[in-house]
Amino acid sequence: MPDPLPDPLPLGRAVVDRDAASRAEAGLLERLRADPAARALLVSGPELAVRPGGEPALLLVPPARLDPQGELAYLGRDGDAGYVSWTPPDGVSLATAVAALADDDHEPAADADAEIVTLRDAGHLLDARDAGLATCAVALAQWRRTHTHCPRCGAEVEVAEAGWSTRCPADGSSHYPRTDPAVIMAVHDAADRLLLARSVAWPERRRSVLAGFVEAGEGLEAAVRREVAEEVGLDVGPVAYAGAQPWPFPASLMVGFHAWVVGPDGEPADAPTPDGVEITHAEWYSRQDLRDAVGSGAVGLPMRTSIARALIEAWYGSELPD
Ligand SMILES: [Zn+2]
Repeated sequence: MPDPLPDPLPLGRAVVDRDAASRAEAGLLERLRADPAARALLVSGPELAVRPGGEPALLLVPPARLDPQGELAYLGRDGDAGYVSWTPPDGVSLATAVAALADDDHEPAADADAEIVTLRDAGHLLDARDAGLATCAVALAQWRRTHTHCPRCGAEVEVAEAGWSTRCPADGSSHYPRTDPAVIMAVHDAADRLLLARSVAWPERRRSVLAGFVEAGEGLEAAVRREVAEEVGLDVGPVAYAGAQPWPFPASLMVGFHAWVVGPDGEPADAPTPDGVEITHAEWYSRQDLRDAVGSGAVGLPMRTSIARALIEAWYGSELPD
């Protein structure tokens, strides 16, 4: 069996109490906006403001310092400190918002060097508290950006429950953030090789494990078997759950599996047949093959924030170089 995945995975870490019970409190966001002990992180879609360094940290500021036209969402509390996310008003970039902070009268030196990063690139470098806050904030921000109108009648919705739902003023319906499950699977054969493939949208040298969205009315194991058959033409036998993490780009929950292609006599599996539509290359790799391919630069692996990287390294048995 492959090694267990890290638990939690980089974006699955959660330290701050989400305090869901307080979301319905009337005026909660207005109180937090004025609370000098509260802290806001700055988020826009997948982007975040951080203080840079080898181990970057979220830029956290009292919400009163931020443009009241921006949108707040309640992320939870850690002791007495309430955390919110703040998204700039339409038409204002995160970089502009950060620059405005550096220019105001409060500790300009501390904010002047803030940088904009994406959660995808920096998530694994943040500590557990910041990674949990950032992942939650990005998920809510991505949802709000794309779900501005009621799916029933088309009216513009209003934010409710401190950022955790929206309500249609015309028909009274409530709407909640989406989470779309996707399966991602390390496919193994009887010779203990790992299947790596290139998706059509990726750089030429990038290789990773297969993945795909769970369809309506489909179970997770069935989705694993269907995706492997569709994308590389191989039949999967046993499937074992490995771990999961949110992947809010924009709304996925990546559910990881190990899956085995088993020949009739436990022989090495057939060569994969890429579908040519989603997958352009697919090959079986021994550990030596992968070590050589990564070492020579012929293969680039997925980023360390991803569950894909964790699945590959769980099979390999240790970390691989970038
Ligand atoms: Zn409506």
